[in-house]
Amino acid sequence: MIRKPMIFAATSDLSGKTRGKAFPADQLQKRLTRGMGWVPTNVQITCFDTIADSPFGSFGDLALVPDATAQVHVDFEDGTPPEHFMLGDIRTLDGQPWGFCTRSILRQALERLEKLSGARLLAAFEHEFQFAKGATLIHQGFGLQGHSEHAQFGETLIAALELAGLQPDSFICEYGPDQFEVTIAPEEGIKAADSAVITRELVRMSARRTGQQATFTPIRDVASVGNGVHVHMSFVGESGPMTYDPDGPNGMSELTGAFSAGVLKYLESILALTAPSVISYERLTPHRWSAAYNNLGLQDREASLRICPVTAKDPHGIARQFNIEYRAADAAASPHLALAAIVHAGCQGIEENLAAPQVTEEDLSLLSGEDLAAKGFVRLPETLEEALARFASNPTVTGWFDPQFADVYVAHKKAEAAFLENMDTAQRCAAYEEVY
Ligand code: GLU
Ligand code: MG
Repeated sequence: MIRKPMIFAATSDLSGKTRGKAFPADQLQKRLTRGMGWVPTNVQITCFDTIADSPFGSFGDLALVPDATAQVHVDFEDGTPPEHFMLGDIRTLDGQPWGFCTRSILRQALERLEKLSGARLLAAFEHEFQFAKGATLIHQGFGLQGHSEHAQFGETLIAALELAGLQPDSFICEYGPDQFEVTIAPEEGIKAADSAVITRELVRMSARRTGQQATFTPIRDVASVGNGVHVHMSFVGESGPMTYDPDGPNGMSELTGAFSAGVLKYLESILALTAPSVISYERLTPHRWSAAYNNLGLQDREASLRICPVTAKDPHGIARQFNIEYRAADAAASPHLALAAIVHAGCQGIEENLAAPQVTEEDLSLLSGEDLAAKGFVRLPETLEEALARFASNPTVTGWFDPQFADVYVAHKKAEAAFLENMDTAQRCAAYEEVY
């Protein structure tokens, strides 16, 4: 069959989907500068492909400019065309970053962090996903049998990730029915978020090639576990790692302490950006090892922010491994937007000089509302609607973004919710299972 290779220029948009346009591969040089035509209202295409109210209407032109450093070219050697795509930035026609380009939003957040603290962010995304439609792996959590039954998928995925230049860390047959987890080694800010998008797409592509359909939906079945996205973060400066201080509270450097305090202070207002689907709130309930309160845990998987264990024994190794993990995210969120929100919240903590949070060691779900409040904790929003209201009504948080951002984002999410209006929870889960 005749073939002309193409490259897909992509953005990870407000719906957390990877969208874009393809061009013949021999036009690459031109496209690296000129980009592909894009329109502002594209940002209002929801995950269900409905179009939310858009202040842009039919007006405006933008350029989606592929970035040669975020290029994936993977030949699965199965006779199908190699997968070739590049992530890029959305720019205005005069070359400025567009206020709704998630990659540019993250870049600004990372610049803010560096300016405030001299630190660059290292991040590693840990993704959980399931095979959609009918589970074959039941009661096989962490099992060799499950791993072995899907070894073709697992090994194809790991090979694809390596061909894409990523460093896979581990692949796990996770606890839930047909659930897996894949973790990528830490990389610097933008690259880490790029790699998260690439990981999701390569999981889908690998699954398709081994006869499966992968879904990253936040939760498939409320009687079971959810699919989380856990973001591990550490800081590095000119003279090395900046996350750890042996004399700091629970090993946190002053920077880590203030950053963590900021994340927890603003968590209820950024949740709409990191856990942005209607059913995300079915996952963010106590006893699912996700996140339900704005607390810091020491190796505690119920905490929304967790200080992770280190295996190194020497001071340099500990300083390099020491990291905090944000657990209140899922794959309905663009990794770029989610990470930007977390980083801005952390920066706010640095700017406000917040003291390092105390580590919790109790089950917060057993405390009364009054006791929680007395200890300074909140139950995180329990619906998307509530999360959106907390986001939109917090001027500090909306102030991190383009002046139009909050209105546009809320309208986007309201249209997404409207699509599900007459469905029960099971139907909603089924709808999200199809699109993520
Ligand atoms: N599935 C859990 C979640 O929704 C995470 C389980 C784990 O700690 O790996 O976040
Ligand atoms: Mg897991």
